[in-house]
Amino acid sequence: MNGNLDTVWARIQARLSAEIGDGAYNSWIRPLRLIGRERGSLRLDAPSKFMRDWVASHYSERLRVLAATEDESLTGIVVKVGGKREETPVEAANEADVSVLDPRFRFDNFIVGKSNELAYAAALGVAENTKVKYNPLFLHGGVGLGKTHLMHAIAWHIREQTPDRRVLYLSAEKFMLLFIRALRDKDALSFKEQLRSVDVLMIDDVQFFSRKDSTQEEFFHTFNDLVDRNKQVVISADRSPSGLEDIEERIRSRLGWGLVADIHQTDYELRLGILQSKLDNVDGMEMADGVVAMLADRITSNVRELEGALNRLVAFAELVGRPVTLEMAQDVLQDVLRANDKRITIDEIQKRVAQHYNIKLADMHSPRRARNIARPRQVAMYLSKVLTSRSLPEIGRKFGGRDHTTVIHAVKRIEALQQTDSSLAEDISLLRRLLQA
Ligand code: ADP
Ligand code: MG
Repeated sequence: MNGNLDTVWARIQARLSAEIGDGAYNSWIRPLRLIGRERGSLRLDAPSKFMRDWVASHYSERLRVLAATEDESLTGIVVKVGGKREETPVEAANEADVSVLDPRFRFDNFIVGKSNELAYAAALGVAENTKVKYNPLFLHGGVGLGKTHLMHAIAWHIREQTPDRRVLYLSAEKFMLLFIRALRDKDALSFKEQLRSVDVLMIDDVQFFSRKDSTQEEFFHTFNDLVDRNKQVVISADRSPSGLEDIEERIRSRLGWGLVADIHQTDYELRLGILQSKLDNVDGMEMADGVVAMLADRITSNVRELEGALNRLVAFAELVGRPVTLEMAQDVLQDVLRANDKRITIDEIQKRVAQHYNIKLADMHSPRRARNIARPRQVAMYLSKVLTSRSLPEIGRKFGGRDHTTVIHAVKRIEALQQTDSSLAEDISLLRRLLQA
């Protein structure tokens, strides 16, 4: 019965996309869902109140005209917030805040590479499966590598595919804010009930939970309660569970019980893939050969910066109205390129790690296998893998000509140890920050 309406809606979308451009279209129109005909009007669902209001105030007139053009029996447009169930105050708080779910963060525009394939597969698993397989799913990695993107993608996916499953996404900061507000308003009980009524709870950036805070305790109770009842919990942080120094030991260790998926630094292929996919969405953008490769080669810090650089180039090209040449790109992006050139080297890593463990720099290259030397050397190999874009054989060569399998072994070993040895995890998080400063 919706067959005809589907076509009508598709045609309206196509026309509107051409009129308002991809950016606005993807933000506001694409997330709308066609529900059907409601008393002569075309009924659409928006994913949040904010989006409903925005669409109503900016596009409803145009939508109405386009609808009537496509099918003259359509006399109006009705936009409502999706789902039938009542909203809880927490959800309402979510809905009112447009920053909560970014309409651009979806699975279909997340580019998968070696560095993020585990995190991606696990996130998709959570979104697609109603059965809980690993709890919690703990995503960690440096800034700008896609943690929030994956969490929002889980939420969008569930809202669209299984709207009966209740999913709640909160940043740790928002969680703290809501909890403190609930305490102030003597409403803590209903806050707790709301949190515990969800099927999937996601808390982003838990490294922001501050030390010895009652919100940490509250989070932990909620977490335990949900896990006990087989509800899915997804957590993200900029470091592994055992590296979360401000979080109490028993909470920390519990966070590592499910699946811990580390998002590594990007490699060249992934950066290239991301740039190409972004460029595909910009109409009529022309870049000289080599510009994209140069960006992928030199902007290695994180995806956010890579996107930022590309956006700047696109804006610049639009402004000057001619194709971007390599010289132009280098000129426009001078500051970003220079900052990225200061990237971390294996030499620096070796130096820092040797200092930290008080061993000789030469021991990084030596064949000695005593534990007090071998372990720091493994730490340095691990850091070289996660903080630089060097390949395993290249790293091996830098460590006294070792084989790449030795490097793989070191990386795996340190990854595993970090889960159980909190002092090692702290060493690593400290070294990471020193090197990245
Ligand atoms: P984090 O939460 O880890 O700091 P975000 O999820 O905010 O990082 O990602 C930063 C930006 O990079 C976002 O615009 C996001 O869409 C983009 N991004 C990160 N990883 C990818 C990827 N694999 N494919 C496409 N875009 C990505
Ligand atoms: Mg984030």
